[in-house]
Amino acid sequence: MPRPSYPGQPPRAKKSLGQNFLVDVNIQRKIVDALAPGPDDEVMEIGPGQGALTRHLAGRAGRLVLVELDDTLAARLEAEFADTPSVTVIHRDVLQVPLEEVSANPARLKVIGNIPYNITTPILFGMLERRPRPREIVLMIQKEVAERILAPPGSKTYGALAVGVRAVADAERVMNVGRNAFRPVPDVESAVIRIVPHDPPRLPPEDEAALRTLTRFAFGQRRKQFQRILRDAYHLSPEQVEALAAETGMDMQARPESFPPEQFITLARALRAATSAAPKD
Ligand code: SAM
Repeated sequence: MPRPSYPGQPPRAKKSLGQNFLVDVNIQRKIVDALAPGPDDEVMEIGPGQGALTRHLAGRAGRLVLVELDDTLAARLEAEFADTPSVTVIHRDVLQVPLEEVSANPARLKVIGNIPYNITTPILFGMLERRPRPREIVLMIQKEVAERILAPPGSKTYGALAVGVRAVADAERVMNVGRNAFRPVPDVESAVIRIVPHDPPRLPPEDEAALRTLTRFAFGQRRKQFQRILRDAYHLSPEQVEALAAETGMDMQARPESFPPEQFITLARALRAATSAAPKD
């Protein structure tokens, strides 16, 4: 005989939507405290699910926008917050929701979420490779991805993700979270990170595009010396490479992984000034 289904019974977690629900109330609270939402804040929560973070946010944020893809969970949230005018539910794929739809002033937005880990990179870069960027982002992500974002230059895990994030924002770990804080228990460890985009940004938009191209080329060939990458990708002459080395103070015989994000910024700026020609693939 099938077991009765009660209206309040939690639906089965969908692996395809990365549904590992955070059940540890202490950690829920700490994550929300890390964002410190206030009555003047507009907050977007990505993947609110069964409301683990939402219930701590709802009383604190001036305005709260929940973006949830799952039909059942979105309907439950709509019902739960129907009488709370400060809370809005957007029942969509977060990757398809422009920040302008969430807030009239995306630069003021605070973003939070225990996000589906399989779309961490598009979620992050969707917010960081645009202008204006949100004011602050607090996310639970896979610990290994957090470590790649925070990796020091020269380490094995330092690469395009670290430079992509830290060239436009400050990033720090808020805390590690063990598997037992979730149901169902995930296969991986987790961490909460805080990302605060530089305000004002350190580069104009054109130089940011140049930086992204440079980062892609550099870490696509991380075993090569930088001078070789510049010559191959940008078709620079040895004299041009030398001039760039003198201008930026960078040792072009080193490999890309030895340069901190600030040096990528400096080089991208110098490169765009030196060559208006786009690199050829
Ligand atoms: N925030 C809840 C918690 O901490 O318990 C749920 C976290 S669960 C790891 C991820 C949530 O993101 C799920 O509710 C899932 O349905 C939702 N989700 C998955 N893909 C999504 C997408 N593309 N856009 C919006 N929400 C999504």
